[in-house]
Amino acid sequence: MATFIVLLGPPGAGKGTQADILAEKTGLAHISSGDLFRENLKRETDLGKVAKTYMDRGELVPDDVTIGMIRERLSQPDCQDGAILDGFPRTTAQAQALETMLAGFGGRVDVVPYITAPQDVLVGRIAGRWTCRAEGHIYHEKFNPPKKTGVCDIDGSVLFQREDDRAETVTRRIQVYAEQTAPLVEHYRGQGRLVEVDGSQPMEDVTAALLNSLKNAGR
Ligand code: AMP
Repeated sequence: MATFIVLLGPPGAGKGTQADILAEKTGLAHISSGDLFRENLKRETDLGKVAKTYMDRGELVPDDVTIGMIRERLSQPDCQDGAILDGFPRTTAQAQALETMLAGFGGRVDVVPYITAPQDVLVGRIAGRWTCRAEGHIYHEKFNPPKKTGVCDIDGSVLFQREDDRAETVTRRIQVYAEQTAPLVEHYRGQGRLVEVDGSQPMEDVTAALLNSLKNAGR
């Protein structure tokens, strides 16, 4: 039976970094809605052009566009055993659509690790974040620096700072999270799927706590 994990948490909590590590350790696909949008932006697809207008403002891309993109991604063969979802769902409508999609594959959301951190930690993490141009691997200049400044350890591509990581946009993203995504915490808690993880611990301790939470889901 496939395993689907939803990583929940505010921007800067470390979802992307941890999802990369978990994907490697579990062999599950890592699906990041933000990365999918950024790939579309880079390729200048119609979807990318629509998404950009929202992303630049720190707003959410409309549900129908986002849900369609994730449905397509989940139907690919590498998701047969399940996936780690990072950045999706972000609204109640997306969570409901996800449940319907997974039911169609005979699956469901198995566990929802909720990574928390105080606001000053979140802002500091985002401000020091560098992302790799080719694959979206994530670094932090203080907490997780690349071996060579400005170069990805994994694929050697150039590191850049995301435009939406600028201070004004970050504030808006955190606000949007509080308004539209935070209600999902209670949604999944009510289903008994939520596991809280303290994201302000050192990176390895967060990974250990996450792996522990997945044991319950049989991974
Ligand atoms: P992220 O890389 O997860 O921080 O996402 C970057 C941006 O992409 C967000 O600020 C949104 O504009 C957009 N985005 C990513 N995931 C979603 C989603 N599930 N729903 C709507 N917009 C999204």
